Amino acid sequence: MSLTENTKKARALAAATPHGLLIGGAWRDARKTFSLQQPATTTPIADIADASAADGVAALDAAVAAQKSWASSSPNTRATLLQQAFDRLTAQADDFALLMSLESGKPLSEARGEVAYAAAFLRFFAGEALRHHGRTSSSSDGRSRHVVTRRPVGPCLLITPWNFPLAMLTRKVAPAIAAGCTVIIKPAELTPLTTLRFAQLLVDVGVPAGVINVLTTADAQTLSSTLLADGRLRKVSFTGSTSVGRTLLAQGAQTIIRSSMELGGNAPFIVCEDADVDAAVAGAMIAKFRNAGQACTAANRLYVHRRLLARFSEAFIDKAKALVVGDGLDDDTQLGTLINDRGVDKVTAAIDIATQHGARIALGGTRGTGAGHFFAPTVLVDVAVDNPVLQDEIFGPVAPIVAFDDDDEAIAAANDTIHGLAAYVFTRDLGRAQRYADGVDSGMLGINTGLVSDAAAPFGGVKQSGLGREGGSEGIEEYQSVHYANVVG
Ligand code: ADP
Repeated sequence: MSLTENTKKARALAAATPHGLLIGGAWRDARKTFSLQQPATTTPIADIADASAADGVAALDAAVAAQKSWASSSPNTRATLLQQAFDRLTAQADDFALLMSLESGKPLSEARGEVAYAAAFLRFFAGEALRHHGRTSSSSDGRSRHVVTRRPVGPCLLITPWNFPLAMLTRKVAPAIAAGCTVIIKPAELTPLTTLRFAQLLVDVGVPAGVINVLTTADAQTLSSTLLADGRLRKVSFTGSTSVGRTLLAQGAQTIIRSSMELGGNAPFIVCEDADVDAAVAGAMIAKFRNAGQACTAANRLYVHRRLLARFSEAFIDKAKALVVGDGLDDDTQLGTLINDRGVDKVTAAIDIATQHGARIALGGTRGTGAGHFFAPTVLVDVAVDNPVLQDEIFGPVAPIVAFDDDDEAIAAANDTIHGLAAYVFTRDLGRAQRYADGVDSGMLGINTGLVSDAAAPFGGVKQSGLGREGGSEGIEEYQSVHYANVVG
């Protein structure tokens, strides 16, 4: 089969992207490499450096060595570097989108959207670098002054996932740079190229040696446990599964490490009896099928008021049926591949569980044929409120629809989970929207929208969905510690 222009361009970009480890401002090889595959075709696309524990220590040495001078760099310096990174990333948006689509399988249109979203963190935190929010105040007895300042926490380990390789990276790197922290980035082994190319961009705009270090590895466990056990590392920021988050928190407990955890979700998507059905269907399409459902904010469970059930389901199924499934690098693809076979097996298992408990497959339900990890858009109906499929994050293009009769029942169902990241509610009644905002345990709520992500907003969850917030003015605080001096005289 002849390669498309987009595939040729994306492979050329992959070949021209560094494949080594970035330590102390220089790229170096590792003793071993691991092979990276294109998920849409399973073709090998690159050999990537496989960092050892010793490489991890070398990167930490570099981050520690650079920390002091970086912490004393001026806010203007940090803001300018971030703004320059924004400008370059925006100028190279097409290249980054092609590379990201190649290694993750996401549709090019979504990859372009992600580049813009990722760049927005650079611009937002370029501004935040200039605002330090310290304060002075009087002591309780009026005899001294309190001077409260924010300082960088110190060297950070940033562990990112494969589903949004660029946005999850800038959401951590930009506030870390703005705050004056040095970092070691550990990208997902399934999508390292986007990170490697972005790291080169940061080097090119002049981020000093040692401030940004990148370690790719096929053995995340060994590398991160080595770093977390070293008392010089002061912070870990992780985006990924709840189970890995638990492991990292347990390891970090030994060195009392500052932790930000953006973990799994199980977002309810609630369509109230007064909702605008067309808007709800459009919102559900985005919340469910963006990135083929591989998002921690993905609508995992659709609760629809019984009065609208038939209308909503029919329209939603029609739209889902029309989605063009294919290689993300094809311009007309709307639903790309899943990341790997494990992802496809997980989705298949979820559908099996659902149908064993009485659900019916109204659309899809099948994996793709041939190479690539494709799965058809799938809608499950007649899903009972206690069906166990509603307990786990599906992470695929599968939408279970559950009927409900009143708001209290929907709120109780929404809260019947260990997670609490995103939630969505569609209603035209402001009072009802507020009752959902108060009643649903989540870190984020989309009201009449299927999207909650924005660089200027605090992204994060409650319950076992995580700790801390990313983005917004809250995002920089994760990389700062509060210092206070009691000044007499
Ligand atoms: P998924 O199961 O969807 O791949 P993970 O939580 O396993 O999600 O992966 C998210 C990130 O966490 C990736 O960068 C991965 O390499 C990393 N990771 C996986 N296991 C560990 C671990 N034990 N310690 C540190 N990082 C890990």
